[in-house]
Amino acid sequence: MKSIAALFPLLLIPLSASAVEIFACEPEWAALVQELAGDKATITVATSAFQDPHRLQAKPSLIAAIRSADMVICTGADLEIGWLPLLLRRAGNPGIQPGNPGNFMAADYVRKLEIPKLVDRSQGDIHPQGNPHIHLDPRNIRRISIALARRLIDLDPANAAYYETRQADFQSRWNEAIDAWEQRAEALAGLRLVSNHRSFSYFAAWLDIDIVATLEPKPGIPASGAQLAALLEQLSPNPPVAVIRTPYANEKPSRWLSARLEIPELTLPYTVNGANNVTDLYALFDESITMLQELLQ
Ligand SMILES: [Zn+2]
Repeated sequence: MKSIAALFPLLLIPLSASAVEIFACEPEWAALVQELAGDKATITVATSAFQDPHRLQAKPSLIAAIRSADMVICTGADLEIGWLPLLLRRAGNPGIQPGNPGNFMAADYVRKLEIPKLVDRSQGDIHPQGNPHIHLDPRNIRRISIALARRLIDLDPANAAYYETRQADFQSRWNEAIDAWEQRAEALAGLRLVSNHRSFSYFAAWLDIDIVATLEPKPGIPASGAQLAALLEQLSPNPPVAVIRTPYANEKPSRWLSARLEIPELTLPYTVNGANNVTDLYALFDESITMLQELLQ
């Protein structure tokens, strides 16, 4: 089929007009595209909730998917710096290269937290552009959904009305959901937690949750035994309520600290499909709030 398409490129027009092919780096962006594009898009997701989005192997199946994509939607802010540039180079697909309409980086549309004053790459900080785990503030999702709908319209103007309607519908349901989450989560304000990696900074900032320490001394650098021991000593006089981590994080340091402080260790879903019942973006926030509320009981 490839050779026929190459000889008769016009043949591709009716085929590609049937659906926009999306390559999403993370499940949260696949879920957002699904909300906005419905059956006008086919979506390939590069990572699952159980894979670290900082680190991924550029497998042949991913190269094949990105080669035929009309758009890549990723976080950006260097989250995928270890693998996306390589995939893009191997894609041989000009439309999705940086600067072109088929290249959408969600972090370009939100204010980043934790931007380092001085980046020392020799120390291995994997958040040199600030914290890239932006999707756990639902207000960021709202901003990104507006920009993403515009981009879908640029790429597929024939279906502009469809994307506009779906974005307006999503935004109105999402705003209602944010109001409901903020009400439900009022009691979480001031909740003291320790996090393995800085994965939950936006979620915590949104709900006034207090992440009192991070196990990793720098983003991406596992704590040494001595550093963990120092953290245990620091936290012992006034232990936090729980240690939280993502489904993909190494559980050992969290378990070690939670056992010694005698506090729960909690795996939050972090993204879509990060827990059994978390099948969309709404359930992601519902379930994360529910799990934290259970700590208070
Ligand atoms: Zn990170």
